[in-house]
Amino acid sequence: MARVDLKGIVKSFGKSQVLSQIALDIRDGEFLVLVGPSGCGKSTLLRVIAGLEDADAGTVRIDGRDVDGLEPRERDVAMVFQSYALYPHMTVRQNIGFSLTLSGRPKAEIDAAVEDAARLLGLTALLDRKPRQLSGGQRQRVAMGRAIVRKPALFLFDEPLSNLDAKLRVQMRTEIRALHERLGATSIYVTHDQVEAMTMADRIVVLDRGQIVQIGTPLEVYANPASRFVAEFIGAPG
Ligand code: ADP
Ligand code: MG
Repeated sequence: MARVDLKGIVKSFGKSQVLSQIALDIRDGEFLVLVGPSGCGKSTLLRVIAGLEDADAGTVRIDGRDVDGLEPRERDVAMVFQSYALYPHMTVRQNIGFSLTLSGRPKAEIDAAVEDAARLLGLTALLDRKPRQLSGGQRQRVAMGRAIVRKPALFLFDEPLSNLDAKLRVQMRTEIRALHERLGATSIYVTHDQVEAMTMADRIVVLDRGQIVQIGTPLEVYANPASRFVAEFIGAPG
């Protein structure tokens, strides 16, 4: 688990300010869902937390540690994207274990970690397959496997299900939530799907043009939207 504190995060690209004074405390073990219209800064905020993008101002603390200036891999964070580019020439086993191979861990340790991750994700029987021999849902699970194999304290999900069909999306959101519980992780999950937000979140954060306009439980946000924007955004089925 990890606590995340964001203070005064500002980020501009050229003349346009994409994040304006973002302040947010994410609790240990929380599943926080970040919603907002396309272009409002959701991915940029995740990338700042992951260390893939530098903020112009503000601080990111993970478990009380100021991580500014730390490389992504030094932050104990794993990110799952919507375009889960798997290595096509590698097996499932090699895809999941790749980051551990890079860090030079002993082979027996890597094998054990990969098998643990595969078991959690129901991939054990598929470890020797190549990505092209997998369904969309199975590929998405391999992408998750690559993230969980390092046992990060913090997961950042950027619209991980948007390439899947509706039925699989419903199944995967239950699985992701269950995995979060089982791993005792803290998760920040970006989606533009209101139903996903309502069903998965402990708390929802609504972002509009780089600013947080509401934070609350799904029920609070739904029953008591802070503005017309939130009401329309949360109320309109995705
Ligand atoms: P969201 O994920 O909410 O759709 P993003 O965080 O991807 O939004 O983008 C927010 C804004 O920042 C958009 O206007 C986008 O075009 C712009 N932006 C994002 N990344 C870059 C970049 N590397 N260079 C320039 N503009 C960017
Ligand atoms: Mg995005």
